[in-house]
Amino acid sequence: MQKYILIVEDEPAIRDMVAFALRKAGMEPAHAADARVAQTMIAERVPDLILLDWMLPGTSGLELARRLRKEDLTRGVPIIMLTARGEETDRVGGFDAGVDDYVVKPFSPRELIARINAVMRRTHGVDSEGVVELGGLRIDSAAHRVYAGEATVPIGPTEYRLLHFFMTHPERVYTRSQLLDYVWGGSVYVEERTVDVHIRRLRKTLEPYRADGLVQTVRGAGYRFSTTPAA
Ligand code: CA
Repeated sequence: MQKYILIVEDEPAIRDMVAFALRKAGMEPAHAADARVAQTMIAERVPDLILLDWMLPGTSGLELARRLRKEDLTRGVPIIMLTARGEETDRVGGFDAGVDDYVVKPFSPRELIARINAVMRRTHGVDSEGVVELGGLRIDSAAHRVYAGEATVPIGPTEYRLLHFFMTHPERVYTRSQLLDYVWGGSVYVEERTVDVHIRRLRKTLEPYRADGLVQTVRGAGYRFSTTPAA
């Protein structure tokens, strides 16, 4: 699965350099020149990571970061700020706004890709080869396969996406509506009870491997993937 990275940057030269480096690293870049365009694009498709220029025309990158952290849909999306040298002193403000890392201009494409990979591993729990491992289960994202120990787990496409989301966002409770946004995509109309149907199927899929207990119901809230048995 290619990582979808949104570049929010008003300088064409930097945008082009970054987009080129991302493509070369096997990622899928998209571009917005200001915060307003960025928000529209994010509503249509939530990126795996956002590269956010600090100084943008109109709404600043920092303000956009703050807004994204307040929204359920984008709270978990990692953000790397692109800053000019003089802005370094404001880093504390950025970390308060929930920014995951900084890259100071001018930066090399190699440095940027290394930072992106480090932030992805930290926030999504996935390494650059796309392997996720948790609770005795292993997902090979490149091969689109799930393993329990040595056994290959036969799994449907929606259950796969659901499990992948859970394993990369463990130990957190998600409401049905959040799961619809993250797993089905914000623009698709699906009823909330569809989530329950697929949760049931996912548990059934994991049952033979005694891993169904990892998908937990949190009463009145939603669902959680946890390696700690539910109380
Ligand atoms: Ca700028």
